[in-house]
Amino acid sequence: MNLNTVTALRHPTSPAEIAEWRNGFAWLAGGTWLFSEPQPETDTLIDLGHLGWPALEASPAGLEISATCRIAELYRFEAPREWVAAPLMRACCNALLASFKIWNAATVGGNICMSLPAGAMISLVVALEGRCRLWPRDGAPREVAALDFVTGNHTNVLRPGELLRKVHLPGSALMKRAVFRQTSLTKLGRSAALLLGTSDPAQGDLLLTITAATPRPVQLGFDEIPSAEALRQKIDARIPADGYFADVHGSAAYKRHLTFHLAEQIRGELARPEARA
Ligand SMILES: Cc1cc2nc3c(=O)[nH]c(=O)nc-3n(C[C@H](O)[C@H](O)[C@H](O)COP(=O)(O)OP(=O)(O)OC[C@H]3O[C@@H](n4cnc5c(N)ncnc54)[C@H](O)[C@@H]3O)c2cc1C
Repeated sequence: MNLNTVTALRHPTSPAEIAEWRNGFAWLAGGTWLFSEPQPETDTLIDLGHLGWPALEASPAGLEISATCRIAELYRFEAPREWVAAPLMRACCNALLASFKIWNAATVGGNICMSLPAGAMISLVVALEGRCRLWPRDGAPREVAALDFVTGNHTNVLRPGELLRKVHLPGSALMKRAVFRQTSLTKLGRSAALLLGTSDPAQGDLLLTITAATPRPVQLGFDEIPSAEALRQKIDARIPADGYFADVHGSAAYKRHLTFHLAEQIRGELARPEARA
């Protein structure tokens, strides 16, 4: 849609060109959300598309995903064979309720910064133990765990004008066995629950990440694959019955039910030695 409050569009080649930040400014990534509804508070869009950040950089240390990496680019990424958790990337891209047009324009960073419960790029980077690199307008870069980036439905730790620069996924997490489960109220609908489990084959542990069903990601760690009952109890202790995210895509009770159901499937699959993403 036309944003008729916007009167200026800037194309910096370095974030340093935007020294001053004021109300009315907004970073523009793929624009798929920004142009999907009126933005009465915004008069200036600052396009990230000319910063020239490389989309994806793989090394033995892991994968650097630039905030401006398109979801379609992440989908096409060919991971080294030993990164057995890499199929989670495609699974999470597919989990977005998005048309072909959105997929090709939307960025990983835009999805994370939107901080919606059904933001599947958030699910991905939290499950794979990502670290977010943030560039404030007036200070030194800082880093936060992806788990701590989203603070609630459509809220996060970004300060005014602060940029998400990239997310680092450690090689150790990419080498874990991984299982993905997602479901929606309607076929191809927005995720009602998206859960990811990873397990280090040497440790036999379980890291369970619960998203979409809750306003922000919840992560539970177990030293070994727990029993079904222990898993259920830990989820219950961590997420109260009214702590689930109720919206048109499902009631809190429905999402709670899905969470238990999908978590148990993940537990069962990772308990089998041959499990793969
Ligand atoms: C039909 C439709 C379906 C959708 N389905 C989903 C869905 O299933 N799940 C979901 O999560 N979202 C969904 N969305 C919302 C949105 O399209 C996605 O979240 C998308 O990934 C946003 O990415 P973008 O690059 O287009 O962000 P933009 O629209 O450009 O920006 C989104 C917000 O993030 C800020 N921002 C962007 N990049 C940065 C950065 N690097 N640093 C700081 N701030 C930044 C912008 O200022 C803006 O506030 C949907 C939208 C539509 C129209």
